[in-house]
Amino acid sequence: MKISVIGSGTMGNGIAHTFAQFGYQVNLIDVNEMALEKALTTIAKNLDRQVSKGTITDTDKAIILKHISTTTDLKTGVAEADLIVEAATEALELKLEIFKELDSYARPDAILASNTSSISITKIASVTNRGDKVIGMHFMNPVPVMKLVEVIRGYATSDAVTDIVMSLSKKLDKVPVEVNDYPGFVANRILMPMINEAIYALYENVAGVQEIDTVMKLGMTHPMGPLQLADFIGLDVCLAILKVLHDSFGNPKYAPCPLLVNMVTAGKKGVKTREGFYDYSAGIKGPVVAAKFL
Ligand code: NAD
Repeated sequence: MKISVIGSGTMGNGIAHTFAQFGYQVNLIDVNEMALEKALTTIAKNLDRQVSKGTITDTDKAIILKHISTTTDLKTGVAEADLIVEAATEALELKLEIFKELDSYARPDAILASNTSSISITKIASVTNRGDKVIGMHFMNPVPVMKLVEVIRGYATSDAVTDIVMSLSKKLDKVPVEVNDYPGFVANRILMPMINEAIYALYENVAGVQEIDTVMKLGMTHPMGPLQLADFIGLDVCLAILKVLHDSFGNPKYAPCPLLVNMVTAGKKGVKTREGFYDYSAGIKGPVVAAKFL
């Protein structure tokens, strides 16, 4: 089975890494050549970590890297794929454009999956002529580590395609959970209001960054506080998801906190820009609260 992954950012490199680790041939595609180079460096670094933990050998690492090829050309990059997993930027118009192209470039029997966090799979499928073969395959970050895959059935997704994606996820040693196509699905419908509320608590000066994260870590046994988790997800991604929830449900409870909007506008997007609620200029280990919030 041949896999193409579109978008080589935070999620795309992890998805390519995971498929390659389980023996699949992966073509990683991005519009940005530098993003592809960065993705290969990140994958190699993450494989080194697995080698040092003893979960794979140096030889495995070399084989896994050989399974991944890269290109900036969408047309040739998806031509032979059995499954295409789209993990490009979370923006509706962009995804619709990509799926329209995929429908004409991919083999007629190919399955088109999106890793979208919140955009309607039914809407994405509507721009193709193969609604039965369009599905959500929502991996969690970091993909090689996290067990869950939220498998989202669009209105027209067939049972056969759902079965293929469920069993493929198991072959990647993941635990797939089937859900229906409503805004935010399950994961982000629950997670994003919590993150937004944590940002509101900071905005209204209920407590500082570290205090809010410590309450949630120690009080609720969360491995990471919501503000740091938001930095890892990407504040731009969080904002995009909240906008989808807000627009789709028309309920003010999903309105993104003005502080989140300001931070994204100022280019403070979390780990990927080295600053969000925390400062990551010295790396992701031992981040300090960003000067703004001291
Ligand atoms: P990102 O910003 O890190 O990476 C997006 C990549 O897509 C960039 O490298 C960009 O160059 C590329 N891209 C943009 N337009 C493209 C096009 N037309 N063709 C090919 N590549 C293109 O974003 P991300 O955090 O990896 O998110 C990707 C998707 O995964 C989004 O739909 C997001 O909602 C979803 N997601 C993100 C997370 C997370 O924790 N970040 C978790 C689950 C799902």
